Amino acid sequence: MTILTDTLGTEPADRVALRDHTVAVGLYLGGAWRPVAEGPTFEVVNPSTGQVIARVADGSAADALAALDAAAAAQEAWRDVPPRERANLFHAAHRILLDRADAIVETMTLESGKPLAEARGEFQLSADFFLWYAEQIAHLHGTYAEGSRGGYRIVTTHQPVGPSLLITPWNFPLLMIARKAGAALGAGCTVVVKSAKETPLTCALFVEVLHDAGFPPGVVNLVHTTHSAEVSAAVMADARLRKVSFTGSTGVGSTLLKQAAPGIVNASMELGGDGPFVVLDDADVELAARQAIVCKFRNAGQACVAANRIIVHEAVADEFTRRFVELTRALTVGDGFAPGVDVGPIISAKQRDGVARLVAALGEIDSELLTGGSPVEGEGFFFEPTVFKVNDRDNDVCNQELFAPIATIYTVGSTAEAVRVANDTSYGLAAYVFTQNLSRAIAVSERLDSGMVGINRGIMADPAAAFGGVKSSGLGREGGHDAIYEFLEPKYLAITVD
Ligand code: NAD
Repeated sequence: MTILTDTLGTEPADRVALRDHTVAVGLYLGGAWRPVAEGPTFEVVNPSTGQVIARVADGSAADALAALDAAAAAQEAWRDVPPRERANLFHAAHRILLDRADAIVETMTLESGKPLAEARGEFQLSADFFLWYAEQIAHLHGTYAEGSRGGYRIVTTHQPVGPSLLITPWNFPLLMIARKAGAALGAGCTVVVKSAKETPLTCALFVEVLHDAGFPPGVVNLVHTTHSAEVSAAVMADARLRKVSFTGSTGVGSTLLKQAAPGIVNASMELGGDGPFVVLDDADVELAARQAIVCKFRNAGQACVAANRIIVHEAVADEFTRRFVELTRALTVGDGFAPGVDVGPIISAKQRDGVARLVAALGEIDSELLTGGSPVEGEGFFFEPTVFKVNDRDNDVCNQELFAPIATIYTVGSTAEAVRVANDTSYGLAAYVFTQNLSRAIAVSERLDSGMVGINRGIMADPAAAFGGVKSSGLGREGGHDAIYEFLEPKYLAITVD
């Protein structure tokens, strides 16, 4: 492959130089990076500066189908690779991943804007997920039982679903590909990964790790594109595709489910959230306020599991709000490479305009702006961490995923009301409960309509835990003991025994 350093000149190059490393910018099809000069490109922007940092191959529907050709051709051989050998490839990839930590972490900060410390946290979690799947591969199991009326035996085994489309969002560019690809490849499925156009470079580095670890050609394929709708529609309509695993907004997830329907394509959906963060009257208020800060402002609020509505019992509402606002004001906003920065930029100028519109809409309802509320002047797409106290929640603006550094605080008069307000949403991804009474914590968490509940903690992703939502937050789980089975189909053998 040609390595050019002046990649922002007039000629597209096959790698872009970023800080101390380079990243491939082509599509990865059938085990090779396709030269960029063969097709159109699009720009990747650093949201902290607004500067273009790379031009990346802009894949078409035909390119995505070429990726599916490669995945389909490799499927049978990959399925037959014994689990231990598959696991060995995973372990090799994990070692290479750790060796390239700095390059990957810095790339994440460059293209997503998240502060280095957050990027390091995401890197560690992603590596842990990949290791978790490596360990799972050797433990896939089936069952053996007698037929109900005798004369035969029931053997249940598992087989890979088949070629899978993995569509990832920009807000966790490494975690999402590691989590999906780990489960799919571990199960014996070949994959076509579609990166998010805002963060293709992190995906490219991850795929390069798999390539260098020795994953066979066609097992992993990567398509970047600015034409997501056409690309995925073409792949979804192809009968060779057997699975789609999507992380992103509920609207796009719903479109994909419709596209999956005609061919009965297996689908896993990790969609939006409207995280209720419930603080009961016996909560440790200092702990709740600190955890709410992390849960709300991590990734500048652009997280599916972010605290979207902070629901506080009136007995502790003043104390909690005072402390939460104090901690919010102490946050440092800026370029993720600068020391001491807590909150990075919004992903794009367009999204930042959306955040400003949300603030304006919250200002129109019965609410009080307690801090923040404005874009930060200067280069990049920064927005002040913002807190509103909301008095009337019966309006459209309070019934949506904010996905922004805007915290809304609601006061309630009882635990029952807190649960009612928490569940008054079409979403059901992550919820949080703060109380010092264990039995209350359990009782409340059982009543919350959500796939996950953090009890006295605001962060909970873990490779050993089943991550996912209910209601319009999704279908299926990633991580945990069963996640790899999302990419496996049970097969029942009836065996006559005389
Ligand atoms: P998005 O739905 O706009 O995009 C997600 C991915 O889908 C991107 O790769 C995008 O290019 C692609 N896409 C867009 N339109 C498409 C189409 N018509 N067909 C196929 N693919 C298409 O979401 P986003 O703005 O990138 O991410 C934010 C959303 O993702 C939020 O709603 C957030 O809550 C959700 N999210 C959920 C989880 C989870 O695990 N549940 C994790 C992260 C983000």
